[in-house]
Amino acid sequence: MERIRVRASWQERFAEASDVLKSSQRQQTVVRVLDLEIGGSDFITMAGPCSVETEQQILSIAAHVRKQGARVLRGGAFKPRSSPYAFQGLGLAGLKLLAKARSETGLAIVTEVMSEDDVPLVAEYADILQIGSRSMENYTLIEAAARSGKPILLKRGMMATVEDLMRSAQLAIGAGNPNVILCERGIRTFDNALRNTYDPAAIALLKQISHLPVIADPSHACGHRELVPALARIGVAAGADGMIVEVHPQPEKAWSDGEQSLSFDEFDGMMAMLEPYIALRGAANRTLVGRVG
Ligand code: PEP
Ligand code: MN
Repeated sequence: MERIRVRASWQERFAEASDVLKSSQRQQTVVRVLDLEIGGSDFITMAGPCSVETEQQILSIAAHVRKQGARVLRGGAFKPRSSPYAFQGLGLAGLKLLAKARSETGLAIVTEVMSEDDVPLVAEYADILQIGSRSMENYTLIEAAARSGKPILLKRGMMATVEDLMRSAQLAIGAGNPNVILCERGIRTFDNALRNTYDPAAIALLKQISHLPVIADPSHACGHRELVPALARIGVAAGADGMIVEVHPQPEKAWSDGEQSLSFDEFDGMMAMLEPYIALRGAANRTLVGRVG
């Protein structure tokens, strides 16, 4: 397989994140979690509620999304909320419910860690530590999470450039953890029609220049469940290695982010719709390798 070279101007532009860039030694990082490979040939779906709410809620979601092909269960136990009065998450009780869902379904767990002090606790339960958008510039948190040895899911800050995201990833790699997954989840722009502005060009760029796996978050990227399947499809087409998506049995009753959460039926419809696009993605990736420098 011919190796992709990163053009010299991008190497200069992103010199401060040089370990994030593809190199002749490192073309693609594959993050291994339980029996999964993220950044390998499979498109990996991570699905679950915004927040872990009750045992019944998380176990029913886990069973459902697994049946539909998800490989990772998402769910916040520590929630960064814009309002101090909003639900802040179940904390340790939520982590224990996620672990129970893993033992019942075999799904790997991704959940957010918000503070350096919580890293050992969250790392004890989670398979992947999520660094949220609001924490992407919390460098001490990123280093502590990286030092735990668990893979890191690094979400793009809502005001962050692609370079900012790469610099934060560089920090995790510099702390000795090469298992970093980058996530495009929408940014703030002058357009306020939707919750955020989705930036699939960032996915395409990162796939071009970085060896790290890149995933799309179509839920936070728009904030409206009607648009989530289309944004997921765009993520697949842009070359993402996977997606993270919010699902809830009763979205209108969700304790957080109900507006953007898919019902079970909507999730099933989206997974069926994506199938041919995911099949095409495999073929397109094979054709592209070696042709674009
Ligand atoms: C989340 O995944 O529920 C979340 C809070 O995401 P973000 O950090 O991208 O806002
Ligand atoms: Mn959410």
